[in-house]
Amino acid sequence: MIVTRFAPSPNGPLHLGHAFSAVVAHDQALAAGGRFLLRIEDIDGARSRPELAAEFRADLAWLGLEWDEVPPQSARVLSYAAAAARLRAMGLLYPCRCTRAEIARAVRAEGPDGPVYPGTCRAADVDPAGDVAWRLDVSEALRRTGPLTWVDQLHGEQQARPDLAGDVVLVRKDRATPASYHLAATIDDAADGVTLVTRGMDLFAATHVHRLLQALLGLPMPTWHHHPLLVDETGRKLAKRRGSGTRDLGLAARRRAGEDGRALADALREGRLPAGISVSPGIGAKP
Ligand code: GLU
Repeated sequence: MIVTRFAPSPNGPLHLGHAFSAVVAHDQALAAGGRFLLRIEDIDGARSRPELAAEFRADLAWLGLEWDEVPPQSARVLSYAAAAARLRAMGLLYPCRCTRAEIARAVRAEGPDGPVYPGTCRAADVDPAGDVAWRLDVSEALRRTGPLTWVDQLHGEQQARPDLAGDVVLVRKDRATPASYHLAATIDDAADGVTLVTRGMDLFAATHVHRLLQALLGLPMPTWHHHPLLVDETGRKLAKRRGSGTRDLGLAARRRAGEDGRALADALREGRLPAGISVSPGIGAKP
């Protein structure tokens, strides 16, 4: 059975790009007689606003979607800690005490998602009891798994290149945010039985890391579908922090203004986008 999901973070209101993502995932499940899940990714420390989860549900219902809700990430922190402990016992995590400023000074390479951590603490004798993050030793991890591939419905078979992102953080220094997105989302997708991970192209590069984590933790491999992103007049992807969620593009604002949400969902399905919005097949981090 096909199981898809929509996994928003409650750190700002949903915008049209989220509606598009949710509609795509929902329709894929519906077409295959499968399940469409909603998972609230609410472990983003101080940025998380729990009250937004109710708004998200109201937005999805307004769009005419039906879903099954699975536990939010805050209910699963013990499983993230257990996975981190396993990886640590395998000798694949190392403590890192670098500050953001130190990393910014030391960085020598740009990865698909920004600066690549140069591995300063990998060989250093860092006290794990201190204020540390835990990073994945990606080259050692890849050496153990051997080459990995994964399949995107739109982009075909991919050679996994987690090395491009460098030694990513899996357990953050900020204990209010117990696991990084990579670790939490990978574990959740397996726990929720997700078979088709549908999300925007902006997370394409993250999938290389997720594939590696699945192989290390013995988790099943889903298929992926990274859809193109909606962009604004300036060609930039819609983003919560630039106000797409709060101005006219915000779903809650449109809902409150009495707009027909089902008609909006149909318009997105048919590629009839509001003025100034377009689909950009080219934007997003690839590989
Ligand atoms: N929580 C992520 C976000 O809101 C999406 C994660 C995912 O789809 O894997 O951007």
